[in-house]
Formats: sequence, structure tokens, C-alpha cells
Amino acid sequence: MGIKNNFIIKNTQGLYCPYGDFYLDPQLPVHTAIISHAHNDHAKPGHNQVFCTPPTALIMQLRYKKNAAQNFTTYNYKQVFKIKNVTITFFSAGHILGSAMVLMEYEGIKYLFTGDYKLQADSTCSPIEFTNAHVLITETTFAHPEVIHPNPIEEIKKLNNIKENIMIGAYALGKAQRINKLITEYCPTKKILVHHTILPLHLLYQKQNVDIGKFEPYNRKLMKNINNQYIYLVPPVTFKSYQKADNTIRMFASGWKNLQINQKNSLYISDHVDWCDILLTIEKVKPTLIYTIHGEGKNLQQHYKNKIDIKILDNAY
Ligand SMILES: [Zn+2]
Ligand SMILES: [Zn+2]
Repeated sequence: MGIKNNFIIKNTQGLYCPYGDFYLDPQLPVHTAIISHAHNDHAKPGHNQVFCTPPTALIMQLRYKKNAAQNFTTYNYKQVFKIKNVTITFFSAGHILGSAMVLMEYEGIKYLFTGDYKLQADSTCSPIEFTNAHVLITETTFAHPEVIHPNPIEEIKKLNNIKENIMIGAYALGKAQRINKLITEYCPTKKILVHHTILPLHLLYQKQNVDIGKFEPYNRKLMKNINNQYIYLVPPVTFKSYQKADNTIRMFASGWKNLQINQKNSLYISDHVDWCDILLTIEKVKPTLIYTIHGEGKNLQQHYKNKIDIKILDNAY
């Protein structure tokens, strides 16, 4: 009984749970994978058996076609299931459509793997739902006391002050739909044009009954009209290839400072927790042991010195 120090271990394929013989968001093909959400640094193709939420399976099938996985078994949030002797429940992570935190219970101990998560409001996905756990395995992408994300509504309203056409770079999955919805709600005079690689994901969200607001497919002729206040939503690769778009203001929607074009045209909208929201999450989950992945766990170690035991499991990102 008690917390197993080897409940989750890191090997070459990724994070492995020997008690259930499965991986969490494995980086290489494995026999059994639990996938927290469909972003491609978490959801890789080619696994034999995948456990995830229904939207995550749909997005993986859209992106990877036949290679998505041999077999998908999907569960909604709060539905309890078992892999070997580990009892598993998905809880909404508030990150993108279908994103889940994975609660694993074994011999009376609860282990919670967050995947990516956020606390900020986002009407394009279910809000985060907390649950208590003895052990928290959390992403620490922005675990730095200086990283405090601004209010996304105030950020998006800045677009109203720009009279030129705007090109916004955003990740095609999750961020693009959130930005589309925010602009529709808070910048009613703007018209949104969507890059063709983002369209299939927009349509998938709509098919899942998510209101992502108004948009139309990109059309070069429309964008040439500089008096119409168009916003062209493009994925990162396209954004990078248009360094000098004429009569167009470029902005990149991200929590990362180094991805902002300049101070004037910044758009700090993040789908990850900032420092305050990580602390709030720890307060809600009440773990006695924390493992950190993706980022710098050492700031948390410093903050909770002598209070909560914090181990850095992976700082690869
Ligand atoms: Zn993600
Ligand atoms: Zn991620």
C-alpha cells in the first residue's frame, strides 16, 4: 500500500505505467496508449490500442487517417473504466476540444496526469474540472513566477484599434477555433478568413456542436481589399512564410513572449496555465507528491520547499 514511486516511469517511448501496462501520450508507437488530447506532440499515430475521449479519436482520425491507430476505445469525461488493475477516469482539462486529465487509481492511491490544461474561460471546449489526487503529474510549460497571462478578452479587443487587415498566426487545432470565437464575440466589425488547412478542424468543431463563431474560407481577392478589416487566420508555417505581407499587420496568438512579433502587435492568448493557475490547481488537487513534465519544475520546487515533495520527471520541452 501507499504511493508507488514507480507508478509512472519514463522510458524511450514515453511515460509508462507498469501496473496497467500502458503509456501516457507516448512519443513512439506502443501497444496501449492513453492519449490526453489530439495536439500532435501528445497524440502520435501508429499505436495498437488507444484510449481517449470521443473528440480526440475523431481529430486523430481526421489527421492521421488509416495510421491513427489499430483500435480506439473512447470514454466520455467521468466514465470509469479499467486497464488491468488500474481504474481510470477522464476529467475535462479545459485545453482544447476533447482534452482530458487522466485520473488513475491503484491500491487506494490516486494519480492525476494533467496533459495540457488551462483555467481561463474558453467557450470552444469544456471547462476544466478538478479532482483530488495524492500524486499530481503536471505540465509546467509556463511554471515561472513572471509568467502571468493577461485577460484574453482584453487581448482580443486590441484588434478593434487596428484599421488595416490583420494576419493572425495560430495553431490549427484549438487555438484557431478559440480565436475565431473571441473575434466573433468581441470584434464584431471584423471579418474572418480561414486558411484551408484550418478549415477541416473548424468544421469538425462545428460538427461536435461547438459554436466557433463566423468565418469564411480565405479568398485572395477579398484580402486585397484593404478597407474591409479582414482578419486572416493562418497556421504557424504559413505565418512564417509571410514575413512581409503588404498593408497587413501580423500577430501571433501565443503565451510565448519569443513568438510575439513585437511589443506593439502582441497577442498573448495561451491555452496553458500560467504561474498563478498552476498554484491554484495544486491547491485544488491537494497532492502530497508532484511530478513535473514539459518545462521547468525547479521553480515549483523552490516555491513549495519543505511543503510538497516535487520531482522533475521530464524537462525535455
Ligand atoms: Zn496541447
Ligand atoms: Zn503540449
